[in-house]
Amino acid sequence: MDEMKEKLFYQPKNGYDVIDAAERLALEDYCRRYMAYLDAARTEREAVTEAVKLAEAAGFTPLGETDGPIQPGQKVYWNNRGKSLLLAVGGKKPMRDGFVVEAAHVDAPRLDLKQLPLFEDSELGYLRTHYYGGIKKYQWTAIPLELHGVAALKDGSVAEIVIGRDKDDPQFVVTDLLPHLAADQMQKTMAKGVEGEKLCILVGSVPYAGEGTDRVKLAVMSLLNDRYGITEADLISAELEAVPAFDVRELGLDRSMIGGYGQDDRVCAFAELAAILDQDTPERTAVCILADKEEIGSVGVSGMKSQAFERFIEKLCGGQCGVQESFSNSFCVSADVTAALDPMYPEVSEKQNAARLNYGVGFCKFTGSRGKSGASDASAELVGYLRRLCDDAGVVWQMCELGKVDQGGGGTVALYMADRDIDTIDAGVPVLSMHAPFETTAKFDCYMTYKCMKAAYEAKD
Ligand code: MN
Ligand code: MN
Repeated sequence: MDEMKEKLFYQPKNGYDVIDAAERLALEDYCRRYMAYLDAARTEREAVTEAVKLAEAAGFTPLGETDGPIQPGQKVYWNNRGKSLLLAVGGKKPMRDGFVVEAAHVDAPRLDLKQLPLFEDSELGYLRTHYYGGIKKYQWTAIPLELHGVAALKDGSVAEIVIGRDKDDPQFVVTDLLPHLAADQMQKTMAKGVEGEKLCILVGSVPYAGEGTDRVKLAVMSLLNDRYGITEADLISAELEAVPAFDVRELGLDRSMIGGYGQDDRVCAFAELAAILDQDTPERTAVCILADKEEIGSVGVSGMKSQAFERFIEKLCGGQCGVQESFSNSFCVSADVTAALDPMYPEVSEKQNAARLNYGVGFCKFTGSRGKSGASDASAELVGYLRRLCDDAGVVWQMCELGKVDQGGGGTVALYMADRDIDTIDAGVPVLSMHAPFETTAKFDCYMTYKCMKAAYEAKD
């Protein structure tokens, strides 16, 4: 009977029951590189900067204004305003035959500063924020925060601001009520317990010497001016993001997991980046996108809906074929994380179709919510293609769905790629505590997602 089951049943296995010692070493090596990237890439801008460094070290050069069609083996990148990155390695086949594109996003939920953020109350200095992306607001209180970003000055220069990353730097916090006085707060729903306007960051307490009002605000502004040469008006044209200050760490006694901020979706961004850096001359041109703005709808010039993507492909085609013709023959892996089954909250998942830690890269045929609304819903043929591709390359994968029917849902960039007439499927790393300030992944799944991305680029058909 076991033989019959083996033959007829789909029986996913724990990854640690199927990999050998050599592959475990490769897994650890890959995860070390990923953790270093994640630690350095705290914002979408830093994720792009770090990726450009790695790409240049691997021989990629900026895509020039006059470049013709991409040549076999040619490695190029295009930095889109410092917030999203497009890379390509020329394939043996012309762009007319399509390309293999992998699209992940490098923005992550965070607290953005308002344009007029600084104020003082009861002789304490604060920065007002407007959160970005889907967060559980209570998770952002009483944790150490860092500030990262830029301030654009009127003279056209840009001050890069990072406070809290260096070991000697001060950090910041959003305070919360003590339980002793939280009787009213604790009666509220978790959605209302901490309100958006209360997510103000404590930045100082020492007043500027002398008489008058707003002395703490003045002292804080004076420190910012000393360090970065900026005034309060310069904050109007700043993009400053408060992000969790936690280091990226191995988790568990067995060190099998990774804890860190922004793994949605830098874990997939790094997987596809590492995979394209491995390419020499693939069959079809390989394209890698690190997109911005996914968490707020893939909007804006650096989001996946932007025509910046069309422009990039147009340059790769170099007039030898139309962009649309190239799109129609292409294949896209929308590389984004999925929800892992959390045994503490099994009620939101349907176990048979939920992703599990250590079961490999998760394929999602569809995402969306309320009857697949907002999903791209990959075709059976495409799922079959990816199954074969991964099986042939020794990639451990699992089929999964984000949560129970009608429990909620989520979206990715998949539908915006499919809108372009590109066959698209979602695949990525299962995550625990997704969108929390400290997210958890399994090393095995991170590594298998990299192998999946590599297999897609190296496909022969
Ligand atoms: Mn995501
Ligand atoms: Mn997300």
